[in-house]
Amino acid sequence: MSKTIIISNRLPLQLQIDNNTIKATPSVGGLATGMKSVHRDSNGVWIGWTGLTEEETPEELVDDVAKAAQDAQCVPVSLTEEDIDGFYYGFSNRTIWPLFHYFMEYTEFEKESYQTYVEVNKKYAEVVLENIEEGDTVWVHDYQLMLLPELIKKERPDVQIGFFLHIPFPSYEVFRTLPWREEILKGLLGSDLIGFHTYDYQRHFLSSVSRILRHEVSFNEITLKDRIVTVNSYPMGIDYDKFADAAAKHDAAKNQSELQRRLDLHIDSTPDAKMILSIDRLDYSKGIANRIRAYEYFLEKYPEFKEKVRLVMLAVPSRSNVPQYQLLKKEVDELVGRINGKFASVSWTPIWYFYRSMPFENLIDLYTTCEVALLTPIRDGMNLVAKEYVATRTDKTGVLILSEMAGAAQEMSEALIINPNNFEEIADALKQAMEMPEAEQIKRNKFLQKRLKRYNVEKWADDFMHSLHDTTHKSDIVK
Ligand code: UDP
Repeated sequence: MSKTIIISNRLPLQLQIDNNTIKATPSVGGLATGMKSVHRDSNGVWIGWTGLTEEETPEELVDDVAKAAQDAQCVPVSLTEEDIDGFYYGFSNRTIWPLFHYFMEYTEFEKESYQTYVEVNKKYAEVVLENIEEGDTVWVHDYQLMLLPELIKKERPDVQIGFFLHIPFPSYEVFRTLPWREEILKGLLGSDLIGFHTYDYQRHFLSSVSRILRHEVSFNEITLKDRIVTVNSYPMGIDYDKFADAAAKHDAAKNQSELQRRLDLHIDSTPDAKMILSIDRLDYSKGIANRIRAYEYFLEKYPEFKEKVRLVMLAVPSRSNVPQYQLLKKEVDELVGRINGKFASVSWTPIWYFYRSMPFENLIDLYTTCEVALLTPIRDGMNLVAKEYVATRTDKTGVLILSEMAGAAQEMSEALIINPNNFEEIADALKQAMEMPEAEQIKRNKFLQKRLKRYNVEKWADDFMHSLHDTTHKSDIVK
């Protein structure tokens, strides 16, 4: 029976060594959920790194790692600490991530880390090739594995390969600065189908292909010597029912809210203050520092809102051994301290700041308790938090303020869309959100929810897989 092989940097499970035994817990991220049906139904295999380096895995536990992975229909790729340094923290997160998010000043062009990226992509390819059988379909995910499609195609031209990029693809003028631009494009063109979140990312990719590699591009197809590569956009959705159901349960169990309890305890005795939510990984692409400054500007421009609002900010630790992330942490700590120091009164703290990750139930608590969500990324491939916030608003109240630079903004025009660099606009949007009549909130969220429910993450995966299977016919015609 033919199967689907899914490949991503990390496997959808967390492995830990506990008392010299391997413990596996499934991860609950969006990708794992979206791929669930593809993974399980088609007898699929998921290939990726376990999160444990070779150095961290005692010799006698190597087989146990493979066994734990196998139990979850997974196959591990074994990586060393040096691999992770050069491939993940190096080329992926110091070159591709900043460049593709238009942070050129943060982008490092290090030959050694590119070489490790090549070597590690080869390691993934080796494991894929060992597991591939005739008639299988391959779906490669994200920017860590852009060379993989070509490495697989070279050995197995008979196999259909799809690739999905979860981050933006930058404009040609930015992409062209990459010393290894041809290699990356050629790597991706090993695929039969390449998917992006938005039409703009797709357009940028096609223009880079035609200008750098001089391939013929017509509409959304690239003609190579022996085959056609199709490029299209598939905006990733969320597991809508999971969020809506959890929110409904949360509403039903009254007084469950941690935030509410905190207010009841008079830690902060302005219980009527509306709560503005902000959730992201602590990443420079998310515009967190600017968001705090814009909030400060809002309090200055509209002082009548002092003691009437509160910014509840969750920043999830991320890539903390990359220097820019350490600097950002310091900057955010200082900003929060300065603004709380400047505006706080005996009964009111303007920013509640949490630097940690939260379990699902607490996220639902935040989503359902905060009247406004303020998400202001400078660049963001999609931004699932925006979609999750809307999905949890069971009574359809709540206002989403969203940066136009997030992929999600393309599908969420009923939100208050702002330019994250325009403080005037953000301050005015916050005021508008505070004063928006409930009827208008409900009207806007009704449209948003309907769309999110229909185009959920399963539909996203299905659409991609259908298009990938359709590409078989196109290639047959060329042959
Ligand atoms: N999230 C989480 N734990 C937290 C905070 C957030 O698991 O403490 C999840 C959140 O529910 C969302 C994801 O992290 O699904 C963030 O996805 P998004 O697309 O917004 O940003 P990314 O981090 O992928 O750039």
